[in-house]
Amino acid sequence: MPVGGRKVAPVAVEKETATVTSTISGREVELTARWNRMFEPRVLTNYGPEGFAAIAALPGGESLEWCYGCGKCVPVCPVDMVGDYGPRKLHRKVQTGTELLTDADLWLCTACGNCLRVCPKQVDMLAIMPAVREAALSGSTVPAELQDVFEKTFRQGNALGQSQRRRAQWADSAGVPVRILAKNPAPVDVLLYVEDYWSFHPRGQDAARAFARVATALGIDWAILGAEEKTLGDSQRLAGEKGLFEALVEDAATTLAKYDFQRIVTPDPHAFNALVKEYPARGHSYDALHYTQLLAPLVGQIRWTRELDLKVTFHDPCYLGRQNGEYEAPRTLIEAIPGVQLVEMDRCRQNGYCCGGGGGGMWLDSFTGDHTTERLSERRVREAAQTGADVLVVCCPYEVSRFTDAAKATGHEDLRVCDIIELIDEAMRDGTDGV
Ligand code: SF4
Ligand code: SF4
Repeated sequence: MPVGGRKVAPVAVEKETATVTSTISGREVELTARWNRMFEPRVLTNYGPEGFAAIAALPGGESLEWCYGCGKCVPVCPVDMVGDYGPRKLHRKVQTGTELLTDADLWLCTACGNCLRVCPKQVDMLAIMPAVREAALSGSTVPAELQDVFEKTFRQGNALGQSQRRRAQWADSAGVPVRILAKNPAPVDVLLYVEDYWSFHPRGQDAARAFARVATALGIDWAILGAEEKTLGDSQRLAGEKGLFEALVEDAATTLAKYDFQRIVTPDPHAFNALVKEYPARGHSYDALHYTQLLAPLVGQIRWTRELDLKVTFHDPCYLGRQNGEYEAPRTLIEAIPGVQLVEMDRCRQNGYCCGGGGGGMWLDSFTGDHTTERLSERRVREAAQTGADVLVVCCPYEVSRFTDAAKATGHEDLRVCDIIELIDEAMRDGTDGV
């Protein structure tokens, strides 16, 4: 296999005749030059290795040239379903002279990982894309909307550019006390790493408040960091801002070292991915759980107060399911809610369709819209509507706003979009508060 694009042209062997020894009779047989020409080594001349050499020179970029064109990755790529994409297509474009560093294709991959699941050659877009994107950051082709998010994260510690002082404002109207470690630093069992969208986005805050009520009702000993929390930055890393990610790792590790907790629980599958894969690789290991993994074993202790009478369908987050293997905890919770019937979409579990928000896609909606026939979130909402579900339930903070917008854009306003925790909270209330 060529490494680093340094292909060595085979030496053509041209002989008038060749003599071979039969392995059966032991006799020597003379073959003519015609035989020899039949097996003449072929040298492909319509492309050179330069494009692959440049990408393979970037740490993480090595595997693009391992592609041998089987095409398995294309039908599972969510971007190809709304456009013209996939690792095989990228490989061919680089092979025929496209400069990936400055091409729009560089920013379309959502790092969903579905191609890597099926690729026999382990062409790893989750390593290739961050590597090439990082190299592209010094140029002028970074989409402005993504650049804006990088700057907000640098300045404010969150992708929404909000003041850190407002991090815990959502907790004021949770209806239960929410402990902030800076004010009460006593040891705690669960540290909830709230992350950006549950902290600042109005619909994310609804889910955060629901979590607060459910966790408190279950008697969980939990607390948050409040204004000291910054994003863990995994999506910024996959979008190419490795330097920013490394700085965020150091900030988070320093903050976390101040407190005595048993487990970190987060609602954000991207943060969860960072905690279980990226942080340990940098010497910071924690007992990390997604919130559905915290609650699923406790489901028998929940005191339900009403039936919801809903048909729901569930969208597997790429970074909880395919990337980290958790498919059951969300389903355990959904199926436990009284009156809720779960219907699966065709594409689910390991073949779940991406919402378009991963790998920086969360902040590239305008850019992606210019290069695809429809947004991935719109495609997914159509699939959800086809099941006849009343509700599309999710457990990634990116998705409530993405799918709500997509439902409006595709004429499926009747499809309600909410986090699993909101349905649990709803079924635990008696309805007298108007919920
Ligand atoms: S599945 Fe892998 S080897 Fe096959 S075409 Fe795609 S990237 Fe290439
Ligand atoms: S990671 Fe997902 S979006 Fe990116 S090329 Fe592979 S299948 Fe397509």
